[in-house]
Amino acid sequence: MTTIQCQCGDVKVELSGDPVAQFYCHCRDCQRVHGAGYIPVSMYRADQVKVVDGDPSLWKLRVTPRATCRACGTRVFAEPPIGMRGVNALLLPDGAFKAQFHVQCSEAHLPIRDDLPHFKGYPASFGGADDTVDW
Ligand SMILES: [Zn+2]
Ligand SMILES: [Zn+2]
Repeated sequence: MTTIQCQCGDVKVELSGDPVAQFYCHCRDCQRVHGAGYIPVSMYRADQVKVVDGDPSLWKLRVTPRATCRACGTRVFAEPPIGMRGVNALLLPDGAFKAQFHVQCSEAHLPIRDDLPHFKGYPASFGGADDTVDW
């Protein structure tokens, strides 16, 4: 069991068990919401992610609703409509995020060259086409 919290501590979330996958997301929605080129995501089944303190709003900019602290604005996790919750991996304890691949690379700001697979959309294990980009 791991407990994470937003920047101000109002919202606390318990994570049980291991993540389904960990990856970097380069989609436009994540870019705009986080003001970042890409973000680290630790994906869990919805039932593994439980809000135990605070009352986050389910705020949405364009595409994906994101559980957001009403006081400090931290997006704690995203709630895509697939029974999963994509936890903002910047909130995990040090060393708990080990990226396995990159997703939504067709929307990337710039290539991130590393040894991980770089999927245009999503890998087949997430219902995607499994296509990769050439970086
Ligand atoms: Zn907060
Ligand atoms: Zn994204």
